[in-house]
Amino acid sequence: MVGLAFNSIGRFAQGGILRDRMIPRLLEADPEALLGDDGLDPEAIRDVAMQDEKPGGHGDRAGAVAALELAAWDLNAKLADEPTYATIARRHGTAANDSVSVYAAGGYYYPCDADGDGSARQLREELKRHRDMGFDQFKIKVGGASVADDLRRIEQTIDVVGTGSQVAVDAHGRFGFVEAVSLLGAIEPYGLRWFEEPGDPLDYALNAEVTARYPGSVATGENLFSVVDVANLARYGGMRPGLDIFQMDPGLSYGLTEYVEQIALLENAGFDRSQCHPHGGHVINLHLVAGLGLGGCEAYPGVFQPVGGFPPVCSVENGRISPPPAPGFGLELNPGLSGYLEGLCA
Ligand code: MG
Repeated sequence: MVGLAFNSIGRFAQGGILRDRMIPRLLEADPEALLGDDGLDPEAIRDVAMQDEKPGGHGDRAGAVAALELAAWDLNAKLADEPTYATIARRHGTAANDSVSVYAAGGYYYPCDADGDGSARQLREELKRHRDMGFDQFKIKVGGASVADDLRRIEQTIDVVGTGSQVAVDAHGRFGFVEAVSLLGAIEPYGLRWFEEPGDPLDYALNAEVTARYPGSVATGENLFSVVDVANLARYGGMRPGLDIFQMDPGLSYGLTEYVEQIALLENAGFDRSQCHPHGGHVINLHLVAGLGLGGCEAYPGVFQPVGGFPPVCSVENGRISPPPAPGFGLELNPGLSGYLEGLCA
């Protein structure tokens, strides 16, 4: 016997959304309506792609629009023969910063081996590997083991990297209110860089309870996909100006145009764009961080290949990295991606 179902109507996977609705709208639009001063107008691309779409229901649609909108930024930068961060900075009147802070995310739970210490050994090896690559800020997982085990992992990490202020912890939204709050007192003495996604990303009341009780930074936002989601986080999430970290990811939330609107909303609410550290360790977000003058960028060394990570021309030095100087985002410089992209563009 086979159980059959489907998820919904009209909210199919990103490929379907693009092929059936958004790309036809763009092809039918007056070409002039899609052009701006620098080539394609990314805001118009988003607006035409979103014609007749209902509010809300972000899901896969937010990613589908982002792919179109971000491709316009890559193309415009290539037309101007410059790296995309320079195009972004000019368009948005920001001071481009071609050297940005970057941290190594990872800190996975590794399986124990026969002597029972394999997990700790592999965590240490991972951290040393990232440190040797030039990283000086790190992020590890918590919430997947007992509190005692997680505290041990935090201590092992600090032992390798130096201080708690170089270490962030990410709970991936796992904790309920009681668990989240009970961990706060235990981790507070370490002076960690930030505590990420303590609870469900849409549980703003829980987030507000955590920020009210925890003097250190709290990070969240990678699972928010629209300006309205961010408005609700700013209104109800207890986020503190100058302290907490916003991690919205333009590639998951309608692209750069929508992301800039999110930043404007935060700045109007008293936050600073240096509090923005977009989720997603890849070269597109590296350009956005540099072009918009944000706080910093995430990296996932060695994983999520071939789209993850940065081209070999980008090396990490003292915890900082620069976007590739080639025109566009430089996705073609990723060795694992270049052949595929050549085939796509042929
Ligand atoms: Mg995270």
